Amino acid sequence: MQSFSDIEEADNVELANSSIAAKNAGIEALNQYALTSESGIMATEWSVIILTLTAVIQFVVVSLSGSMALLGDSIHNFSDALSALPLWLAFFLQKLQPDKRFSHGFGRFEDLAGIFIVASIILSGLVVGFESIMRLLHPEKVHHLPAVMMAAFIGFLGNEAVALFRLKIGKEIGSAALVADGYHARLDGLTSLSVMVGCVGIWFGYPQTDPLVGLLMSALTLWAGWELAGTIVKRLVDEVDPQLLNAISQTALQQPGIRGVKSVKARFSGHRLRVEIVVSVDGGLSVDTAQKTSDSLRAGLTSSMPVIEHVAIELAAKDL
Ligand SMILES: [Zn+2]
Repeated sequence: MQSFSDIEEADNVELANSSIAAKNAGIEALNQYALTSESGIMATEWSVIILTLTAVIQFVVVSLSGSMALLGDSIHNFSDALSALPLWLAFFLQKLQPDKRFSHGFGRFEDLAGIFIVASIILSGLVVGFESIMRLLHPEKVHHLPAVMMAAFIGFLGNEAVALFRLKIGKEIGSAALVADGYHARLDGLTSLSVMVGCVGIWFGYPQTDPLVGLLMSALTLWAGWELAGTIVKRLVDEVDPQLLNAISQTALQQPGIRGVKSVKARFSGHRLRVEIVVSVDGGLSVDTAQKTSDSLRAGLTSSMPVIEHVAIELAAKDL
């Protein structure tokens, strides 16, 4: 077995330099895990409920008033509620064990759900954009202005409630992703208020302001879809943050018997990480000792970085 002084020797200079960054990446990995915790799930569920309710109320007013700006806001709120779906699916799929047909488990279903959600967000952005352009070309009167203004204000309240909730729980469980979602909802609350700008415009005799705000909503929705598409495509082509690989190497080097890290690869399947690692150990180890070294490396990695679901380990003799 290896003493702590050996760990110092095993430290590769490049890895040592990046240890602070690696530590941060480790925290980031923990954040992703925190999203699957009880309170993280609760925050997600309440967000979905409040945003869906907001979107439904707004949609009722859209059908009465014919306001394009409100249609855009309503569809955006609905899309945002929908984007929490992969996380729900992930929570459900966690209960399923890999079987002979799906030997790598069911994590990819989460990514597949992501593709459908991106497609629906982009499609809804295009629909709102198209409808708004049609309305600019063929103006129609917007009815029930006070109801539209009220629905816009409900959009603001719904999003702000979700923002407060996400920020509070996100900070409690230390989830950067949830905090980021909180700021997203706060911004959406402010865009809901811009529907009122359309109403004020109509009030002063400029009916085009409503479809123009609709176009703005369409652009924001397409932008959100584009960003989410980037995240999902990167995951599907197995992109990982290099800092995460450094964090894995650093953690591996701290495990007993590990003399160095020759290579490390990782890919996400859904929100869980699968790792392949080649480590050097002292030559001439018995099979028993090699097995123990390998087991403790696996245990060390999965306990310090719970985002890791699976570790494939190859041992190489250090002297060779
Ligand atoms: Zn949004």
